[in-house]
Amino acid sequence: MLSERSRKIKPSPTLAMDARAKAMKAQGIDVVNFGVGEPDFDTPENIKEAAIKAIRDGFTKYTPVGGIDQLKDAIIDKFRKDNSLNYTREEIVVSCGAKHSLYNIAQALLSPGDEVLIPSPYWVSYPDQVLLNEGIPVFFKTYENESFMAKPEAIDAHVTQKTKALVLNSPSNPTGLAYDRKTLEKIAEVALKHGIYVISDEIYEKLTYEGVEHISIASLDKNMREKTIVVNGLSKSYAMTGWRIGFAAGPKDIIQAMTTIQSQSTSNPNSIAQKAAVEALTGPQDFIQGMIQEFDKRRKYLVSELNATPGMHCPVPTGAFYAFPNTSGIYGKSSAEKTISSSSDLASYLLEKAQVALVPGGAFGDDNYLRLSYATSLQEISKGLERIREAVRSLS
Ligand SMILES: *Cc1c(COP(=O)(O)O)cnc(C)c1O
Repeated sequence: MLSERSRKIKPSPTLAMDARAKAMKAQGIDVVNFGVGEPDFDTPENIKEAAIKAIRDGFTKYTPVGGIDQLKDAIIDKFRKDNSLNYTREEIVVSCGAKHSLYNIAQALLSPGDEVLIPSPYWVSYPDQVLLNEGIPVFFKTYENESFMAKPEAIDAHVTQKTKALVLNSPSNPTGLAYDRKTLEKIAEVALKHGIYVISDEIYEKLTYEGVEHISIASLDKNMREKTIVVNGLSKSYAMTGWRIGFAAGPKDIIQAMTTIQSQSTSNPNSIAQKAAVEALTGPQDFIQGMIQEFDKRRKYLVSELNATPGMHCPVPTGAFYAFPNTSGIYGKSSAEKTISSSSDLASYLLEKAQVALVPGGAFGDDNYLRLSYATSLQEISKGLERIREAVRSLS
């Protein structure tokens, strides 16, 4: 019998959908994949060269568990420049991706029965990471007409004696929306009033559009800095998903606990990838601008076309690379085989009928939506949209 812990969780639904689409592709089926959660750009050449140099220089041994000082210093500089946040090396830990940082935070913070507030829709791994660490995920809804931002009053209403932390993700996966300063200030007030931590997942910080400014809640107030663990990484901004480098910054005691947990589990993140990460953070940054420009074109096109699809309504995302259309207008309609009554019915129908892969909103805690990634070429997006429209039109 497997452990109780392992029986509480499920495989990541986004990775599962991506795997399903890739398997169909491998069988020769022409699938348009809107399921991907990673940039379709290649890692910049200067970053690859830094890794090759690290190998040639023999930088292939264990490093300090929480990351090399050179990388920690580059991260410290990043926080100072981008977020006006000052950290010391003891307040930074480098992990095997931001997902790993988040997991170690749960390991370091949660005792059995501790509650973690998770606004929905949420990124798929938050609830399962809490469950794996014997905590209790406490969900509350956010609304499209409020840009899917957690309302300070809703947070206040869900705090109990057991509440340990609140998870924030801005810009958000899956909604593509970002928190504004005013809302963050009010959330900080509520968090400080109750003495709960904020786990702030800022992995899409660099990917914003329409002049939207990313704000870290840790930067709003000295006391809030002591109550925030900021999570960030290189996967999304530098197209480095496979390199597995993420990091966290926060109160020394938590960061040190996370480092100790790493020392008894993964040890250091990959030495070569750490050198590549130094180059990513300190080298030329124009790659990001180019990627944003391309994403922006696709974003505008995808959103306007989704809004022209019967039964769909798509809020305009201002960050990350996802569109999150409301598809509830389609529910209740039927194909020859079946009535579509949920996001997973619709996603399955589109995969089978139109060979279009996307992730049902139910996976993120809101069944009225679908998530489409635009980390794929304009040509594919256009082909996929045509198929979606045709499949939706044929429902009655
Ligand atoms: C991609 C993603 C992560 C994890 O990124 P890695 O650094 O590759 O582990 C974390 N949070 C969100 C919201 C993401 O979309």
